[in-house]
Amino acid sequence: MNDSPADANSNAYRGRFAPSPTGPLHAGSLVAALASFLDARHHNGQWQLRIDDIDPPRAVAGSIDAITETLTAHGLIWDGPILYQSHSSPLYDSALDRLTSSGWLFRCLCTRATLDSNGCCGQRCRDHNIRPETPHSLRIRIAPERLEGFRDRSMGEQPAPTETALKDFIVKRRDGLYAYQLAAAIDDAKPNFTHIVRGADLLESTHRQRWLQQLLALEPPSYAHVAVLADEAGNKLSKQNGAPPLDNHQPEQNLRQCLQHLAQPAPPSSASRVPEMLDYATEHWSMRR
Ligand code: GLU
Repeated sequence: MNDSPADANSNAYRGRFAPSPTGPLHAGSLVAALASFLDARHHNGQWQLRIDDIDPPRAVAGSIDAITETLTAHGLIWDGPILYQSHSSPLYDSALDRLTSSGWLFRCLCTRATLDSNGCCGQRCRDHNIRPETPHSLRIRIAPERLEGFRDRSMGEQPAPTETALKDFIVKRRDGLYAYQLAAAIDDAKPNFTHIVRGADLLESTHRQRWLQQLLALEPPSYAHVAVLADEAGNKLSKQNGAPPLDNHQPEQNLRQCLQHLAQPAPPSSASRVPEMLDYATEHWSMRR
């Protein structure tokens, strides 16, 4: 990213937490923040905060402050300045240019009504000559025989996705906004970051991001996808389904619950305050499968 200077030692651990500014953090987001923080600190690595602010229509005023306040209240203090994806547009544009010249992009006119059941282009837009001035999204082609699997540090071997599991996907939206997959693929690649630790709900996205990294000749980071918190009905906690914001007045209790969810040893009573709890958890951290 523009404002993230590459580390001179490309093997040095650089991790991140990358919330979107769509509201305050909830318990599910704290799990991802804590797991990425502990993994980075356990490896004496850097841990940065990146705000994924490439979707202004979904942004909620005040959420960046709410996010930083919650992280701070939980002792999760990031290194260096906060990074903002909105500062990286020139990088995204040049990646799109490269993908265009190498023939991997196609213009797509699909709306909800014409997408197939996987959310992919449902009317073979790639075969039509769509003029640049017609409102369109940009989608990336997939060469199924070139897809590769990877070893996830938490979930183990991930085989290459099948032709039906990974089809064309959007890299630039019809409204002109960059898609999360494009921005994350570029910003998460080495040397910006060496280790990505995030929720298992993003595992499928990782295959998409790795495909983009492959096409753009970017070096992929190592990935670990940790179990996400679910409500009683088994739905992932999310802002969309009304997960309550974290109570910053009870950080110890919140951290304890997250550690339990991540199958980490419970901090002893001698480590009952936030700094001691995090020190203990950092020392005893191990990535669970
Ligand atoms: N901003 C995205 C989210 O909050 C990115 C997550 C990630 O790649 O870690 O879901």
